Amino acid sequence: MSLSAVNGTLSDLRSCQGDLGTGMDIVTDVAIDLAETQDEELKAGFAEMEATILECAKLDREISYFVDTVERAIHELPAQEPEAMFSLSDKVKEKFSRRIANLSDTELQKHQKVVAFKESINNILKQANQHTENMEELDEDIAVTQSNVLLTCPLTQVEMVNPVKNKKCNHYYDQEAILGLIRTRVSQKKKCGCPVVGCGNRDVKQSDLIPDQILRRQIQSQKRQNDRT
Ligand SMILES: [Zn+2]
Repeated sequence: MSLSAVNGTLSDLRSCQGDLGTGMDIVTDVAIDLAETQDEELKAGFAEMEATILECAKLDREISYFVDTVERAIHELPAQEPEAMFSLSDKVKEKFSRRIANLSDTELQKHQKVVAFKESINNILKQANQHTENMEELDEDIAVTQSNVLLTCPLTQVEMVNPVKNKKCNHYYDQEAILGLIRTRVSQKKKCGCPVVGCGNRDVKQSDLIPDQILRRQIQSQKRQNDRT
């Protein structure tokens, strides 16, 4: 196997991770729909969906470890010995199975998409409970102003498409924009401070960002309403 073939496979695996992420978003979306129906029978499906999400998270994690193991093995290859490529596969197999063996399933609960799934459902169910307890309508003006602030990304200044919440400082950004900023800072060998004015969080990490599916749906449905009017 040639080095370029290996690199091709690695990039296929990365795009596969992208698809896994999309799949997990879809499952979460369906779960939110179910949560909103308030149908007790339908809600029984949550456990199954959570299991699906966890399976995807596990696969996603294994791909990450595999890609990382291969990259490290390539890095360690002696440059002047093309025949060293032959031992690459064995080396990777051995290291990969050793690393995978030590992973725990509890760690999967911290996977971004797993957290997003659970938070979405809990929030919907909580909202639904509050709603039945307090049927009085909220002051609509306040609700609108609050949502407008929330819906705008502090980086792009436009409405977010894929909102993520920073679990450290609770600020929201558009996923693309904040990941771009983090990448830029990393290339400058700097930490990425939270772009929200007045926020003291000086180190925003990708692992702190949790996709907010409920907000994403709110933005989409508001957009559909605006398009209609
Ligand atoms: Zn912040």
